[in-house]
Amino acid sequence: MTDRPGAPSPPKPLTGPQKALRKLGLERAIDLALHLPLRYEDETRIVRLSDVFEGEVAQIEGVVTHCEIKLSGHRQLLVTLDDGSDTCLLRFFTFYPSTQKALAVGNRIRARGEIKGGFAGLTMMHPAFHPAGGELAVALTPVYPTAAGLPQAYLRRAVQGGLARAELSDTVPPDHLYEIGLQPLWSLREALLFLHNPTPSVALATLQDHSHPAWQRLKAEELLAQQLSQLQAKRERARLRAPVLVLGTLHARLLAALPFQLTSAQRRVSVEIAHDLARPVPMHRLLQGDVGSGKTVVAALAATICMDAGWQCALMAPTEILATQHFAKLVSWLEPLGIKTAWLTGSQKTKERREMLALIASGEAGLVIGTHAVIQDKVVFKNLALAIIDEQHRFGVAQRLALRSKLTEGMQEPHLLMMTATPIPRTLAMSYYADLDVSTLDELPPGRTPIITKLVNDARRDEVIARIRAQFDLGRQVYWVCPLIEESEALDLRNATETHAQLSAALPGVMVGLLHSRMPVAEKKAVMSLFTRGQMGLLVSTTVIEVGVDVPNASLMVIEHAERFGLSQLHQLRGRVGRGAAASACVLLYATGDAPRLGETARARLKAMVETADGFEIARRDLEIRGPGEFLGARQSGAALLRFADLVLDAALLAWARRLAPVMLDQHPALAEKHVQRWLGGKAEFLKA
Ligand code: ADP
Ligand code: MG
Repeated sequence: MTDRPGAPSPPKPLTGPQKALRKLGLERAIDLALHLPLRYEDETRIVRLSDVFEGEVAQIEGVVTHCEIKLSGHRQLLVTLDDGSDTCLLRFFTFYPSTQKALAVGNRIRARGEIKGGFAGLTMMHPAFHPAGGELAVALTPVYPTAAGLPQAYLRRAVQGGLARAELSDTVPPDHLYEIGLQPLWSLREALLFLHNPTPSVALATLQDHSHPAWQRLKAEELLAQQLSQLQAKRERARLRAPVLVLGTLHARLLAALPFQLTSAQRRVSVEIAHDLARPVPMHRLLQGDVGSGKTVVAALAATICMDAGWQCALMAPTEILATQHFAKLVSWLEPLGIKTAWLTGSQKTKERREMLALIASGEAGLVIGTHAVIQDKVVFKNLALAIIDEQHRFGVAQRLALRSKLTEGMQEPHLLMMTATPIPRTLAMSYYADLDVSTLDELPPGRTPIITKLVNDARRDEVIARIRAQFDLGRQVYWVCPLIEESEALDLRNATETHAQLSAALPGVMVGLLHSRMPVAEKKAVMSLFTRGQMGLLVSTTVIEVGVDVPNASLMVIEHAERFGLSQLHQLRGRVGRGAAASACVLLYATGDAPRLGETARARLKAMVETADGFEIARRDLEIRGPGEFLGARQSGAALLRFADLVLDAALLAWARRLAPVMLDQHPALAEKHVQRWLGGKAEFLKA
């Protein structure tokens, strides 16, 4: 290659830390400025050893009185530091000759680390150290969230650089800062400068728990960005066009063919959906309903409206098992009414797949059911008008965007119906899904006997096995759920394979199947079909059956090591039984290991499971136990973008942001846009999915 004069020089390759910065999303100066410390270290003073307390991160200074390499056991360097008030043992497990030299007896050293007490007296493991003397820091030292390959010191310099370069003029109209009692004194610039370099006099606790006015300002800003972007998305969506799908006769024909009457909740949400579909604007609706509340038939009814109007409908499920079940059920309902259904999954044979793609492209297939395979580029719809996503929290934002990008004729967008069995408490849904319409199935189909839930110590396993036997004698089927498929040293969990062998031996004459996520798809399907058809009495499985599986004859579920599961997950699992008319039970087997009793949180979770079967109540308690960050994080991969604010603890700030967002969009559109760009940058598009 020759260098042409005047051609732009090729971009310099990124260094390791630069790459790491990019990976953390810290590209723009403002991204760096908004990368706030996790905590602070106090290097502004030296603490006397007689004054330190255990667990404190302290900076100490003293003379080395002893330095040796201990060779027995773990090789380590042991150094004793004496500051005149007491001594402290410094331990190093990795060290070099230079470390030893720097810590030679007689040297004066300044060391910083966490103080541990105990048998050997005060101790620090791997403290940072350097020769004594030198200036003390004037500000608290921020410690930033970081990643591998990105040293704190590098990140600190990058953040300070970003802070200096970033444009930080205020975007919140000043009048509105008084509304929430924020001192207008704290402009964004001041708040950021302070949080990155707080003066030592500030009460560390108010920084740590984010109650400090500077933090309040940042949290308010963040919530405002979230509310603004959601409102923008909602307004943009209202400008998009979608096919108008008017109710035809197919809907009524399906209703007439169903073996049951809709519940009034199902009727109500069906009306809400039909109303949306008849509008020329894309529907963006979340259908939430507890496990077993009958979301599938609501989806099928929506599909009939779409197909009757001459358009195609796609239904996407997160797992192949679930997609198979939907397929079987919908085909049994719709095929007799003359609907052709296509089927798409990743494990499909090329020939079959090609046939399906042809059916979809020609429009011959009115309904397309499948896994992620439905959104692949190769899948071309003739005229997709409605996309239904089951268990939407299992899908990423990118996948939802991909579905929406399957534009129909005339650049119209398909309507979107998302379904979830993990309801979100109403208050949270309102703020979190500000740009979604929510329909709720708050009623279970009639004729279900409630599930009785029992806590049983693992020591009484034999009794549980006897109980399983009794279910078989009644012609019923049983699930046994295990948390892990392999022996893990850290967690002494019985693995599913071993449990399967054990239960097979204990229950002679019964077909006992095994299902786990690492099995080939064909094998999974075969096992599932034996169980669905009632030939298999007991299904031992990992959590792959968590969502959607529907076998009404299963009346007992045993969950092993229930203490290791989250509350919502337990609820989802339990929802697999109690689907028929038979009295059903769920046994939560727990093990306490060496401990005399269960830990606090585990007990709270299991207790909630015994006390209530209501998904909303469970969600409320789960939120209480775990806090919204984790609660929502597990559900909404891409959109869980709140880093600082807490939707529950900062409810007052959230209310403020909700009020201000429409005012800003209407009266200060330029400021609103600047605010969203500043906070969300490239992520704003993502939030609209
Ligand atoms: P989920 O909301 O968990 O997806 P499903 O749609 O799988 O629930 O429905 C659970 C079971 O209840 C299915 O067997 C379904 O056929 C049945 N079902 C749904 N609606 C009714 C109803 N109105 N009356 C009786 N059974 C119903
Ligand atoms: Mg379902």
